[in-house]
Amino acid sequence: MDSSSDTSSSPPPPALSFSRRQKEKVLVIMGATGCGKSKLSVDLSIACGYEAEIINSDKMQLYRGLDISTNKISIPERRGVRHHLLGDLDPADGELTPADFRDLAGAAVADIASRGKLPVVVGGSNSFIYSLLVDRFHPGSDVFYGSGPEDRVSPQLRYDCCFLWIDVAFPVLCDYLCRRVDEMVETGMMEEMADFYSSESWPGRTGLLKSIGVPELEWYYKMGDDEGGWDTVRRSVYEDAVRKIKENTCRLAERQVGKIMRLKSGGWDLHRVDSTDVFRERLRAEDEAEEVWEKEVMDPSVKIVKQFLQE
Ligand code: ATP
Repeated sequence: MDSSSDTSSSPPPPALSFSRRQKEKVLVIMGATGCGKSKLSVDLSIACGYEAEIINSDKMQLYRGLDISTNKISIPERRGVRHHLLGDLDPADGELTPADFRDLAGAAVADIASRGKLPVVVGGSNSFIYSLLVDRFHPGSDVFYGSGPEDRVSPQLRYDCCFLWIDVAFPVLCDYLCRRVDEMVETGMMEEMADFYSSESWPGRTGLLKSIGVPELEWYYKMGDDEGGWDTVRRSVYEDAVRKIKENTCRLAERQVGKIMRLKSGGWDLHRVDSTDVFRERLRAEDEAEEVWEKEVMDPSVKIVKQFLQE
């Protein structure tokens, strides 16, 4: 564990046990960027009554660096739940392929399950989730955009999976994502990006070059401030970059939901949990959002997970 919670007064949580012929149980939390997957994964890991460890499946959050821009869950927010493949890789080692992810995350699943704990896969990269979970993975296939016989979604999985899909009505999510970009800017995204671009080695950090914010801000950081700082040209390049970051984040969310729906129609048994009201509350006034989260997201999710763990 990264840090441990105080369990001295309560009995140890039960371990999951598998006979050799049983598939490992794996909980998978899916959804578009910003929909609350990370929070749900930690809340559920604590609430489900079993010890759980989280495996990140967001392809940008795998790498060290750009913690604000890639929206990595912070250490206090992890609340002592151990996370794997989160900021562990060097972006200079290049982009991970789905086949690489299958190997790395598959080893993490085996390790967690061998210790009697529940692996929880969380992240928005659906091509990685697919490569990890499908029973037979064909590295050349493309189940999201391809049309050949090998590109069909396979419903045969190598683990016993329970899927939770956190869904938020798109216009509401998009409003929230735009506000999140403003909050990221306020909490240091630009400083983080300035550091990234000030290092001479940035072109070699190929793992992170596609991370939203990096391509959009390249011109702005390349301009430098030789002309005397915050002039009108510099300001308009900056404002344009922030607008593109918002647009590209909303586009990413839309593509992610399209991919999730493709997996669902390909036979993956996804439990959809509607979190729209939580986001409406968050956009209106933070105070009541937590209550709505408990009632509309946590309660149904806990029921689904407990049922799955008892099967
Ligand atoms: P694709 O087939 O488009 O690569 P995918 O399912 O493999 O999709 P996604 O996770 O949807 O992978 O990421 C696609 C792109 O979205 C990334 O290349 C990156 O530009 C952007 N992206 C994804 N996650 C993040 C993140 N956490 N922070 C910033 N940008 C991200």
